[in-house]
Amino acid sequence: AAMVKETIRVFARVKPLGRRQQAGSYSVDNEEPLPSLEITVPRDLADGFINNKRESYKFKFQKIFDQEAKQDVIFDSIAKPVAECVLAGYNGTIFAYGQTGSGKTFTITGGAERYSDRGIIPRTLSYIFDQLQKDSSKVYTTHVSYLEIYNECGYDLLDPRHEASRMEDLPKVTIMEDSDQNIHLKNLSLQQATNEEEALNLLFLGDTNRMIAETPMNQASSRSHCIFTIHISSKEPGSATIRRSKLHLVDLAGSERVAKTGIGGHLLTEAKYINLSLHYLEQVIIALAEKNRSHIPYRNSMMTSVLRDSLGGNCMTTMISTLAMDKGNIDESISTCRFAQRVALIKNEAVLNEEIDPRLMIVQLRKEIQDLKDELALVTGKQRTSELSQEELLQLDDLIDTFLKDNDPDSSLDVGADMRKIKYCFVHMKQIINHPMTSGQKLLSQDISEEKNSNEELEKLKGLLQQRDNEINILVTMLKKEKKKARDALSQLNATSAASTVLEQSPSMSLEESQSPSRCFSLKEAKDFSSSIPRLPLLSRTTGGKMSLGCQEAFEVFKRGHADSITIEDNKQLLKQRFDEAKCLGEKLNEVRNKINHLKGKIIQRQIQRAALAVSNPSEELTFDAVEENLRMQIEEEKKSYKTVYSRFKGLKVEIEHLQLLMEKVKMKLQKDFEVWWSEEAKKFQQKKPEMVTSPNTATVYPQFIRSLQHLSPNSSSDTSRDSLYEEPAVKNNSITFGNRTLKTRTPPSSSTSIPLTGDSQADADILAFIKARQNILQKKG
Ligand code: ADP
Ligand code: MG
Repeated sequence: AAMVKETIRVFARVKPLGRRQQAGSYSVDNEEPLPSLEITVPRDLADGFINNKRESYKFKFQKIFDQEAKQDVIFDSIAKPVAECVLAGYNGTIFAYGQTGSGKTFTITGGAERYSDRGIIPRTLSYIFDQLQKDSSKVYTTHVSYLEIYNECGYDLLDPRHEASRMEDLPKVTIMEDSDQNIHLKNLSLQQATNEEEALNLLFLGDTNRMIAETPMNQASSRSHCIFTIHISSKEPGSATIRRSKLHLVDLAGSERVAKTGIGGHLLTEAKYINLSLHYLEQVIIALAEKNRSHIPYRNSMMTSVLRDSLGGNCMTTMISTLAMDKGNIDESISTCRFAQRVALIKNEAVLNEEIDPRLMIVQLRKEIQDLKDELALVTGKQRTSELSQEELLQLDDLIDTFLKDNDPDSSLDVGADMRKIKYCFVHMKQIINHPMTSGQKLLSQDISEEKNSNEELEKLKGLLQQRDNEINILVTMLKKEKKKARDALSQLNATSAASTVLEQSPSMSLEESQSPSRCFSLKEAKDFSSSIPRLPLLSRTTGGKMSLGCQEAFEVFKRGHADSITIEDNKQLLKQRFDEAKCLGEKLNEVRNKINHLKGKIIQRQIQRAALAVSNPSEELTFDAVEENLRMQIEEEKKSYKTVYSRFKGLKVEIEHLQLLMEKVKMKLQKDFEVWWSEEAKKFQQKKPEMVTSPNTATVYPQFIRSLQHLSPNSSSDTSRDSLYEEPAVKNNSITFGNRTLKTRTPPSSSTSIPLTGDSQADADILAFIKARQNILQKKG
């Protein structure tokens, strides 16, 4: 199995000073390779309070985060590397160690007020699910568990069957050891979380239970350990091996010690942990640090048993020492730092929980050797003598081009460790910045194939022309059909209406009027619809990257005639409804969440008040508090409503996702149908091609068209550019006669057609616009 030698990484984080707190004297030196934290102790304090009489203490850390360090930086530098290891199949642990109030919970879980204050657990969940989603090569399953250990008893914070109001109500977790001395936790539920949201909701449930289970009597938050564990298993499709890993995120009990001048003025010989299990943790850690130690006293406490595979051995372990650096807490901070120094001595051997393919290893090592060689060449400055080849330069151009076009912020331009290539890239980039107009063009390929281009260009234009011809023909046929449909519909309507006589007297007028609302080429309408359908690669492929205007319009018309578009529209309506509902529920959830947080805050305030009261008035026992009880009951109520709303919300989400999938499917089918239809139509016209292309200038235009032209011309002043397009063919073509207005037939005689027109003025005008554009292309080429 692959092994990675790794010392436990130990970080320090200094909590911001409170407003009324006096700063202790310390300095941070984050200089590589050995960052250090120096604490200076006033002489009197050094004499009286701390064993050792030194005045200055220096501790080494992987890195020290001073008061202003933000949560995102903490996550990036401390938790992300561990999460990455866990994603790669190793186990990982992050634990926060420090006295009560030094920021353990803030660091691990986060602060409650601001979103930016969220701690390592939510950020890690977000990161992990992000990564899992990106990797489609494996099937991943994720579970979470949340365990609280108080007084050597384990409690499941996530059991959904229990509505805890006291810690005793939570399911008790016990440790079982099998014959192979593997640890099993009986009664600790593993909840599956398929996405970030589910996991966060579980965390929220656990934190609420953790809070509720706490009373002033047990001071659970400072005396218990909380272990949030993310379990990941992965499997390649079709493979039998499963890779499992877990990440423990541990909020330890407060590390404060009993002061030397103990209860009743007795002088204690040695500072002792309030929490015995931290003492056992220290013993385990010391034992792990000692060479040739065969016995590690894991079994002494529940916490060390649970973390057994996460402190030494098969694990990437990271510790965060949280420090409060005000004067009153300096001594505790020194204790924390000392503990950290002992932890830093442990060397872990992280073992990948799986066998690795040796061939893959060879490939990796080869790559590593090559990388090292490259690096060496770079460092020694030994330049390769030969210039980059033409081919290499073209490759670089392509790389730069792709890199510039890639919107992914994580994309990188990797040209290897070749100074010549790196320099070339910079030169190219500079050119692009200075001459943005030519940015799309290649630096080198410009002068290489100049003449080849013009030939290619010609061929391309020819192809384009052919394509447009086909499009015009398909569209015309389509228009005819639409037109016929409208006519049929109308005549049906008229057959049953009394207005049939009007139609006979003036067919063209009534036709035009009744048609106009449902005219088939309302571009705006078509666009509205098409914008709701994402362009699939499928469609653009057939038309060589971009969909031409003609093809697009044909698609719009095709869509309207297709039964599936009704399904799409229906689903769109439904989806919108569901979205609105989900939004409402989401708002409601937030409301309830805020309420709960508010109530929690009230309880804490209450507890602080009562604690203060107990200090000033020691004779009064801390007893049952009705106000607090009431607040807890209110939280219970809110939790219930949270649950019901959440389950509705979740159901809705599933429905929305389902609907979206459905729509995607129908859209895909529609586009496929269109693709088939379009290519068949194109084939048809390809066969008829000679007749269609040869005589664009001698188009015979039907009387109806001429009439519609005249009908249009009075408006020509309002839109000259459009109308001039319509008028021109009429002037150019000698065959057009203006006086032939009396012809009543609406069916074009097929023998005299070279350009089929529909008889609908607007549609015909559209067709002529196509023809005009086509002529323009021909003229440019001629
Ligand atoms: P612990 O869990 O070690 O007992 P907490 O995390 O509860 O300590 O921190 C005590 C208080 O200090 C909390 O109100 C917390 O919000 C605040 N706090 C701790 N660390 C920070 C920090 N880095 N930035 C801002 N506030 C902090
Ligand atoms: Mg805490």
